Amino acid sequence: GLPPYDEGNIFARILRGEIPSRKVHEDEYALAFHDIAPQAPVHVLVIPKGRYVSAADFTAQAGPEEMAGFWRAVGQVARQLGLEGQGYRILTNMGADAGQEVPHFHVHIFGGKPLGPMLV
Ligand code: 5GP
Repeated sequence: GLPPYDEGNIFARILRGEIPSRKVHEDEYALAFHDIAPQAPVHVLVIPKGRYVSAADFTAQAGPEEMAGFWRAVGQVARQLGLEGQGYRILTNMGADAGQEVPHFHVHIFGGKPLGPMLV
């Protein structure tokens, strides 16, 4: 089964304003901010405001409005950052073997250069 949500995880702390972040978007459903260790010219993280440990947790537990609101925010962020014309990549690491470090569901948005093929 899924692990319980850890209120002390770093993204929970960012949501509570205990840790600063470079915000690019915030609404009722989602918060988006620049990754602290960018792996592309644009590397932004989008997180739901609800407490979900992973993509599996989010898709299983979130309501339809919440889910739509989250994915809409992902699209809005890409548009706001000027990525729509050039293309971008969205990615989520799901669980330990995928290298998920932070146990609050998040989507990475990569862009700002031609990305080439995925490596895995
Ligand atoms: P994961 O491996 O869990 O998919 O990705 C976690 C991401 O969060 C990594 O890309 C990492 O650089 C980023 N990250 C970790 N701690 C912080 C932080 O305190 N602030 C920000 N903005 N990003 C963070």
